[in-house]
Order: sequence, then structure tokens, then C-alpha cells
Amino acid sequence: MAEVTLHNLAHSYHSHPSKPEEYAVRPLEVTWKDGGAYALLGPSGCGKTTLLNIISGLLKPTQGKVLFDGRDVTELPPEQRNIAQVFQFPVIYDTMTVFDNLAFPLRNRGVRANEVTRRVQEVAGQLDLTADLKRRASGLSADIKQKISLGRGLVRSDVAAILFDEPLTVIDPQLKLMLRSKLKQIHRQFNLTLIYVTHDQTEALTFADQVVVMYEGSVVQIGTPQDLFERPAHTFVGYFIGSPGMNLLPARLVEGRLWVGDVSLPVDTGTLHVAAGDELTVGIRPEFVRYSAEAAPGALPVQVTRVEDLGNYQILTAQIKGITQAVKAKLAEDADTKLGPGWLQFPAEWIRIYRNGMAV
Ligand code: ATP
Repeated sequence: MAEVTLHNLAHSYHSHPSKPEEYAVRPLEVTWKDGGAYALLGPSGCGKTTLLNIISGLLKPTQGKVLFDGRDVTELPPEQRNIAQVFQFPVIYDTMTVFDNLAFPLRNRGVRANEVTRRVQEVAGQLDLTADLKRRASGLSADIKQKISLGRGLVRSDVAAILFDEPLTVIDPQLKLMLRSKLKQIHRQFNLTLIYVTHDQTEALTFADQVVVMYEGSVVQIGTPQDLFERPAHTFVGYFIGSPGMNLLPARLVEGRLWVGDVSLPVDTGTLHVAAGDELTVGIRPEFVRYSAEAAPGALPVQVTRVEDLGNYQILTAQIKGITQAVKAKLAEDADTKLGPGWLQFPAEWIRIYRNGMAV
């Protein structure tokens, strides 16, 4: 396995790109550490597949370099890069048996027959394919075919990294969960460098040690699931991760105080690198908003417009005077909530401030 570095890398599908919007991947600098389990998370069209195809060599970047353990591989074709890639839909040979499908990447590289058998049996065991090894792939369900694809990605022990592009899309939800934990277990066992593309936050957060979040062609944050939850570096991360996402409220700095609508927040603005007049956004996760039905010191007066009981917690929706955006609070199941006037507290340690989307 290798450390993969993308150095000053960018890609445009336009032949003469002239503005940032014409780039599918905007200039970035990312290192995927040897043995790391990464999720590449972002909405449809943000550039995930483009980035993956650049790492595997299916695509040559418009600018920048791809380095494997410091060696420049930017000009090398996929077959010389030692990358295994698993796609959204199964890529297997229908006329071959499951065994031969799994053996194919090894035989292709001249691996000895007894080693082929050993590896195929090992991977088949991990993916519960042992009973199917002699069956022809053509008659198998989509689930099993995708497991074979995963197996073909995992079977080689000499690859620099394994790239998964939304590999569980065609898999039924129950099996999805099982395969995800299986992949995690295999990762721990073999210390592989794995990059797993998904637009599903649950999938990303449960699979990865580090999540790389992409938005409009840029990497906006790389961090642990906890980093993304507690310290979103970009409003997109705040909004995309969490359910419901982070509250994002327009704010402004007036005479040293931070205002949201008609209320000011308990934030020490002296250390903020912002100027009066900057358009700011205040972010606070619904989990950290406190509610009381009575006035409390430092609490903001609001109108509670909705309370939803979701079984083991409540979501309270409230309106701050002077802004149109609603605020949501995630409260304990037994919290004493009521509609109409109420008070919210935003603990200072959980307030994040953003300018042009980026944390300040
Ligand atoms: P999805 O989750 O839908 O697969 P993604 O995050 O993987 O999306 P990409 O497929 O990398 O995103 O696409 C990034 C941008 O590049 C999109 O605007 C897409 O329309 C564009 N794009 C992708 N492939 C091509 C191509 N071959 N030619 C031109 N534009 C492309």
C-alpha cells in the first residue's frame, strides 16, 4: 500500500478553462496516508468520481501531480499504477465462475496457481462467497455480483490503494450494513489504503477514519467524523452532516457585538478576524441549542412554531425576530416544550462563525 498525494491538482473537462466554475476539481492539495480508511463525501456532481479517476489513471489531470509514496505517476496509465477500483455497478465476467472472476486480477499478473487459490479462498471467506465459488456468475443476483466486484478489488495484496466508487448502491440495505462493517474489518486486518466515494453521510461516517468532504469541486474539510460534527470548517459541512443539519443564520457585527436578527449573541468578537459590514453566518448544531419555556439569563427570546416528537427525541422549530430562517433544537424526549413564546440558549463554545462559507 502507498501514500497517495495530490499536489496542486485540478481538472477541467473544458479544453481552455478560464473560470473556477469550469473546473470539475478546483486546485487542491491532499495526502491520503498509507493504510488510511478514507471516505470521499459530497453531493452529486461535486467532483468525487473525477478525483478517483485521476488517482487510478483513467483521467489525466489538467494541472498538478499524482504521487505514490513520493513517486510521480501522473503520466502512468492505470495498469502501471497498481490501483484496484470497484465501481458502482458490478464489473465481472458473466461466463466465468465466481472463482475465476476472483482469480482474474491475480492470474493477469502471473501470480502462481497455489497463491491464487489461497488468496481467492481467503477473500471468498471474508465476503461469504465460498459456497458460490463454482457457480457461473451469469445466474447470480446483483448483490452477489457486486460482492464479487468487491472481492476482485480486495484479492491483490500488492496494490497501492483500493478505490471504491459508491460500491454499495445496488446492494439491499441489510446487506449494505454487513458489507460496510466487513470492509472495515478487512481494512483493519490488512492495513489497506482505502478511498471510498459516497454521497451518503451515514456510509461515510461509519466507514472512515477520515472523511474528505468535497463541495463544488473543492475539498472543504478533511477530518474525523467528530471533527466534522463539532467543528465544521465550512457551512456546507455543517449543513450536510447531521440530521437535521447545522442551523445557519445570517449575522452581522455591530459595535463589537454579533447580531442575529434583533438579538445579540454571547460571543467574544475581539478575537474574530472579521470587519464590521462583513456578511457573516452563525452556525450552531440543533444538538447544542438549549431551550426553556421561561426567560433565563443570556437566553434569546423566540417564538416556537413547531414541536415534532420523533420517538426518542424532539425537534423544536423556532423563529428569532428579524430573520426569516428558522432555528431547530434537538431536545430530549421528556423536555417540557410548548408552542408560542420561548427562550433559546446558544452556548458560546458551540457557536461557529463563517464568512463566505468558511469558518473564521
Ligand atoms: P456523482 O455522485 O453524481 O457521480 P461526482 O461527485 O462523482 O457526482 P463527477 O462525476 O466527478 O461528480 O462530476 C463533476 C462535474 O464534472 C459535474 O459537473 C459533471 O457534470 C462533470 N463531468 C463529469 N464527467 C464529465 C465528462 N466526461 N465530460 C464533461 N463533464 C463531465
